[in-house]
Amino acid sequence: MNQRELFLRHVGQTSPAPLALEIVKADCATLYDADGKEYIDLIGGISVANIGHRHPKVIAAIQQQLDAYLHIMVYGEFVEAPQVQYAKLLIEHLPSSLNAVYFTNSGAEAVEGAMKLAKRVTNRTQIVAFNHSYHGSTQGALSIIGDEYWRNAFRPLLPDVLHLAYNNFDSLNEISVQTACVIAETVQAEAGIKAPDTAWIQALRKKCTDTGTLLILDEIQSGFGRTGKLWGFEHFDIVPDVLLLGKALGAGMPLGAFVADKKLMDAFTDNPVLGHITTFGGHPVSCAAGMAGMKALLEEGWIGMVKKNEELFASLLVHPKIKAIRSFGLWMAVEFDSFETNKKVIDACIANGVVTDWFLFASNCLRISPPLIISEQQTEKACAVIVKACD
Ligand code: PMP
Repeated sequence: MNQRELFLRHVGQTSPAPLALEIVKADCATLYDADGKEYIDLIGGISVANIGHRHPKVIAAIQQQLDAYLHIMVYGEFVEAPQVQYAKLLIEHLPSSLNAVYFTNSGAEAVEGAMKLAKRVTNRTQIVAFNHSYHGSTQGALSIIGDEYWRNAFRPLLPDVLHLAYNNFDSLNEISVQTACVIAETVQAEAGIKAPDTAWIQALRKKCTDTGTLLILDEIQSGFGRTGKLWGFEHFDIVPDVLLLGKALGAGMPLGAFVADKKLMDAFTDNPVLGHITTFGGHPVSCAAGMAGMKALLEEGWIGMVKKNEELFASLLVHPKIKAIRSFGLWMAVEFDSFETNKKVIDACIANGVVTDWFLFASNCLRISPPLIISEQQTEKACAVIVKACD
């Protein structure tokens, strides 16, 4: 059996039709398959490889950490320099109320931890989330994602969850002194890049403050420069009570985090002690990699390039079959009339060396969330392939 057949037979499958590309190497914004074919990567592992694949500073940091130690103790007991230093770097680039970082292994675990923290801090049980939001696949995160098709088969899920319409002022009336937390994506990703109106998200912030509800913003996709600012919430002049991070946080290694004020975070130390436990969360190699990645992102000026790249994509993606383009930074949904049209375009793109896919709750939209370091030449080439694929 070849590698692909072994993959289909022995690796747990999640789709009847996986892309099943056999990638043997990845560099910057390019993937290489087992036959030596090159692909321009327009999705970056779904908003993970913001500074590209295998950034040399990330590789060097990983190698250095390998020489020191791998896993040494469960989370929160030993002083592990990669965690401490990365928490410090993150906090230096966040508002002062976001000053304590709890590292997890994944985005979903950050969501789980934050929901527990909100219940513990507020002594309330109701959780408010929004239609068409995605927050992860574990049972707590699944309970709050905004689509019944994905939730329904796994009931019973968490009780006392209220799903509201996003970017809708009437929804805010449902938030009350019963609500422990509101969890929202700063910009809805899997809905097909839907940004909120500034007035609405500011009103949401105010409603949470007025009712003593924690506002949890999920920036697992919108963080780390993707939107043209380091954090998505900076576009709206608000600060969440809890910030959720993942994906690009580990620069290619598995890492998630939730960030809050230390006064809130300390709720996990008492009644019960060890209120949130993880063996591998904040793995030293992941933290070393993530910190090197974040430094590279900031020092090399990639965030400043986002606007120009966004405009270049938008100017080149012109075709009668493209109904609309929604973008918020280097993060775009290219809309077609149907999933069938989109799938044909995606298949033709992959056949012609451009990797892209669709959105979970917007299957008629093609995803563009490339490494922020994608070159102008690659962007031009990729857009030409997409436009040709539309024919
Ligand atoms: N929130 C958002 C906005 C996401 O896009 C994702 C992953 N696609 C998650 C949470 C869950 O992250 P993970 O897959 O690492 O559990």
